[in-house]
Amino acid sequence: MPAQIIDGKLIAAELRAKVADEVARVKREHGLLPGLAVVLIGNDPASEVYVRNKAKQTEAAGMASFEHKLPAEISQAEVLALVDRLNRDPSVHGILVQLPLPKGLDANTIVNAIDPAKDVDGLHPVNAGRLASGLPALTPCTPLGSIILAKSVHDSLEGMNAIVIGRSNLVGRPLVQLLLNENATVTIAHSRTRDLPALCRRADLVFAAVGRPEMVRGGWLQPGATVIDVGINRIPGADGRNRLVGDVAYDEAMLVAGAVTPVPGGVGQMTVACLLVNTLRAACAIKGLPAPSV
Ligand code: NDP
Repeated sequence: MPAQIIDGKLIAAELRAKVADEVARVKREHGLLPGLAVVLIGNDPASEVYVRNKAKQTEAAGMASFEHKLPAEISQAEVLALVDRLNRDPSVHGILVQLPLPKGLDANTIVNAIDPAKDVDGLHPVNAGRLASGLPALTPCTPLGSIILAKSVHDSLEGMNAIVIGRSNLVGRPLVQLLLNENATVTIAHSRTRDLPALCRRADLVFAAVGRPEMVRGGWLQPGATVIDVGINRIPGADGRNRLVGDVAYDEAMLVAGAVTPVPGGVGQMTVACLLVNTLRAACAIKGLPAPSV
């Protein structure tokens, strides 16, 4: 029997609807309008699409969306001055600087300048440290979405053997911490890992966040495993146009795994939905309200 396809599109739509309900409630009960500011520097076409999509979904959830489009030649000091203004702006509860940045700008310095309370990308060292310490934190959106998808298959991840392939600050490392918080037993793999296929075969949960098209083969999987494919890779299709594939050989995985996320239509859908969740959570925390029920 082929694996269950985990429908990221549907799960993300449900999550966005819950966020919209909560936004309406905090507006009604507390006069709070959560606001997200997105800073886009330069004109990377993929980033422009992401930012447009974020703005559309933010407004659809009933929140305020502020877009700051800056030229690629802008100086680091000017970007830092904008971040400082946004940090002090009471109508802004979430700040996201779209990465990657043009050459000449230092992403670490800019991310570190964001007020951790407004760091809805969860990349500030304060949030990364809080997450690693098991404290409440704003958490990177893609790992958060990946956990929600895994939990759409398993009520609890407690005691499960998970492998996370990739150790980036954006995906792999926070994912590991979230899995520990769920009481999973976690193996962290990376480019120096030996015999990755054998490690994968021991895992009930496989999270692939590598950036290598279809690297994880069907033969690497334990029968019945749940596979969350974070990878987004563009490769030339048969018609000469680029097509999107994940880090997992999807057709092969479908024959072995218990459940698999498709690419597109899996984790990617969850990332923006989780950004809305983080903006709502940040707004409630800044206003001193209890955490929203999403
Ligand atoms: P990075 O390039 O920052 O990290 C890749 C990780 O994979 C590194 O830790 C690297 O190891 C590891 N790696 C590389 N080659 C191998 C290998 N042969 N075997 C095992 N591990 C390997 O990528 P990101 O974490 O930013 O992104 C990963 C993927 O997720 C990409 O395809 C990206 O497009 C996608 N992505 C998707 C998002 C979504 O919304 N769905 C959002 C963000 C990313 P080492 O540390 O040793 O170099």
